[in-house]
Amino acid sequence: SSPSPVRLDLDGNTIKPLTICMIGAGGFIGSHLCEKLMNETNHTVLAVDVYNDKIKHLLEPESAPWTGRIQFHRLNIKNDSRLEGLIKCSDLTINLAAICTPADYNTRPLDTIYSNFIDALPVVKYCSENNKRLIHFSTCEVYGKTIGSYLPKDSPLRQDPAYYILKEDTSPCIFGSVEKQRWSYACAKQLIERIIYAEGAENGLEFTIVRPFNWIGPRMDFIPGIDGPSEGVPRVLACFSNNLLRREPLKLVDGGESQRTFIYIKDAIEAVLLMIENPARASGHIFNVGNPNNEVTVRQLAEMMTQVYSKVSGEDSIETPTVDVSSKEFYGEGYDDSDKRIPDMTIINKQLGWNPKTSLWDLLESTLTYQHRTYAEAIKQAIAKPAAN
Ligand code: NAD
Ligand code: UDP
Repeated sequence: SSPSPVRLDLDGNTIKPLTICMIGAGGFIGSHLCEKLMNETNHTVLAVDVYNDKIKHLLEPESAPWTGRIQFHRLNIKNDSRLEGLIKCSDLTINLAAICTPADYNTRPLDTIYSNFIDALPVVKYCSENNKRLIHFSTCEVYGKTIGSYLPKDSPLRQDPAYYILKEDTSPCIFGSVEKQRWSYACAKQLIERIIYAEGAENGLEFTIVRPFNWIGPRMDFIPGIDGPSEGVPRVLACFSNNLLRREPLKLVDGGESQRTFIYIKDAIEAVLLMIENPARASGHIFNVGNPNNEVTVRQLAEMMTQVYSKVSGEDSIETPTVDVSSKEFYGEGYDDSDKRIPDMTIINKQLGWNPKTSLWDLLESTLTYQHRTYAEAIKQAIAKPAAN
């Protein structure tokens, strides 16, 4: 299906084809955004990353209908003078590049802070100096913990949304102490948000900040020992997928009591496309992008993933599907956690008329179908010849 020649924005104006410099295009979110832009629009993407495995299917074969509209530039933004040139010849820059796996925040805090703050600074500067629009990816983690988490366990105020709903323009950012290095990521993201906001206020930078709330789906992170390091610890979707594929119990950190709202990557990408194509409505705003209807505890997530995986794989689940593990054992010293993350949707709803659609069960069903199809055979082979090499 070729994209329709005329696309209209939310105000009925024709959308002109854009050139987009997408930094971190080879990652989970980047790969889905590139796919969407190739399939449904006429925009051109200059895809910047150190890896391209997750967008290989878009880069070849050369006969693909979008050939010429996506170019891969293998470069590390830490130290590559070509970056400014790419930003200069684009209409819009989208920065997704980051270290963003919690297992790194307390064990590689310097890399985490440099990646999320220092390395993002030149991108902001080049956009500001060259009058280019910037869409920057921050995180819901800038909210840290909820106000309610500091109330006594039995306080009735804990049930009051005013104490836990996260609102872009009014909620505070509440982090743990400096020894809790978990917060190195959130703190770096918060400071780059403040720089971007100040560039907007003082120098007129046209920006949009995105705060993703646990976007999940196919191609997220890696399966340890298959397409990533065997000792690596990815985010929860990949950890639990790995356990299910290997028929091991799912590990619940500190009882699995933390709560998260999960959103299907394809729903979230629709919000990003609206931001790209409606600059007048998106500029100057910070947007929560999540699904407030999909809240579960990590324990409930484990139970649901076990049920769904059993359905899609046709295998019975193992006798002891979960096991408790302390955060110190799982992540090491300095780990801490966000207790609860429910996004307020008022601003994105008003500006872009966007709402998430997919239920948690449905998004897990399509994602675990993908995981099973992609990895089950490779896992079987890896288990059959252990440590032979
Ligand atoms: P990801 O790790 O899959 O993608 C990040 C990409 O950036 C990777 O492909 C990586 O190779 C690239 N990159 C990192 N440093 C680079 C450098 N110096 N030069 C060039 N490329 C570099 O992560 P993702 O889930 O796609 O997240 C994208 C952004 O969204 C990140 O900024 C992250 O903090 C933010 N975010 C995502 C979520 C989520 O739910 N997935 C939640 C909160 C925030
Ligand atoms: N978690 C878990 N078991 C795992 C991986 C993660 O219990 O194997 C928990 C983790 O402690 C956190 C939640 O799952 O409470 C979500 O973790 P994720 O890595 O996806 O990132 P976060 O939402 O904390 O940014």
